[in-house]
Amino acid sequence: MPPRKLKEALENLVITCLEGEVRKIEALKLYLIDNLSPSEISGRLKMNKNTLKNYVGRMSSLYGSNVLSVVIEECYEVFLTIKPIVVWNGKEWLCLACNRRAALIYTYNHIKVKHRDLVEAYIEKLKECLVGQR
Ligand SMILES: [Zn+2]
Repeated sequence: MPPRKLKEALENLVITCLEGEVRKIEALKLYLIDNLSPSEISGRLKMNKNTLKNYVGRMSSLYGSNVLSVVIEECYEVFLTIKPIVVWNGKEWLCLACNRRAALIYTYNHIKVKHRDLVEAYIEKLKECLVGQR
């Protein structure tokens, strides 16, 4: 697979987990690996069916479903260990890594830009996992 696409896919998935959206990784696994239908997945994950279809479609067109399938299948357990840094404290969304209110920021880009080191560290961990499978 093209290394650039792989790196971009890993980055996107890591940031998604750091945002607290690990459910989306589960959705990709259920769709790409377990071959469940969008209806079954939306029922199981309590996720709107159209949101789910749009997400899977967008991710597949960005990175290719082959790249995504390999990454999700081989690294699924690692994704589940990524702790969200954006959390709801009962009143507002907070970024735990820098203590800023997430309501003021666009979380995906905030994590991508401000917490680059953390994102890179997880990407390295995932790459090791991919290499380890070979
Ligand atoms: Zn932050």
